[in-house]
Amino acid sequence: MAYMIDKRDMSFWQRIYIPEIVRGLSVTGYHFLRNLFKMRDRITVEYPENKKLLPPGCRTEPRLMTREDGSIRCTACMLCVTVCPSDCIAIKAEEVGDPNIEKRAKSFQIDMSRCMLCGLCAEACPCDAIRLDSGQYENAVFDRSLLVYNKEYLLSNFSEGSSTLSRAL
Ligand code: SF4
Ligand code: SF4
Repeated sequence: MAYMIDKRDMSFWQRIYIPEIVRGLSVTGYHFLRNLFKMRDRITVEYPENKKLLPPGCRTEPRLMTREDGSIRCTACMLCVTVCPSDCIAIKAEEVGDPNIEKRAKSFQIDMSRCMLCGLCAEACPCDAIRLDSGQYENAVFDRSLLVYNKEYLLSNFSEGSSTLSRAL
């Protein structure tokens, strides 16, 4: 429902708008000058030259975990594929030949152009094989095919809160 303003209820100064325009410009001017002369108090940074450290627990791009012997933890159980609401995980399984580990992921792809970083895959995983704490958050590209992350990239996608790794596709 549209809200109509009855101009007859407005004062003379409200009807000519000029005081409100001056008031708005004074707020803008105050913040402009404050940011200009008190650079250290600014809460924004000059990205991408300067980057803020991510807070602990920040949910960023996914990464895959390895065991102590360096092998991939993922047993290709497909729980993450089932639970993913964006249908952006694709896994191919292979036999390992170890009775304790039935299978492992031969290939593991996540389409980051569809992933919404909900974290359901990490919650569903019974092996702690996938996490969303890689520290990577800069995934703006022109070529969307670069956003399909493969197993090798996902296994190396960790940088302690910074974002310096390049995609290993
Ligand atoms: S974070 Fe969510 S959308 Fe992204 S791969 Fe995991 S389950 Fe799918
Ligand atoms: S990442 Fe976890 S949930 Fe997904 S297939 Fe591998 S073991 Fe299963």
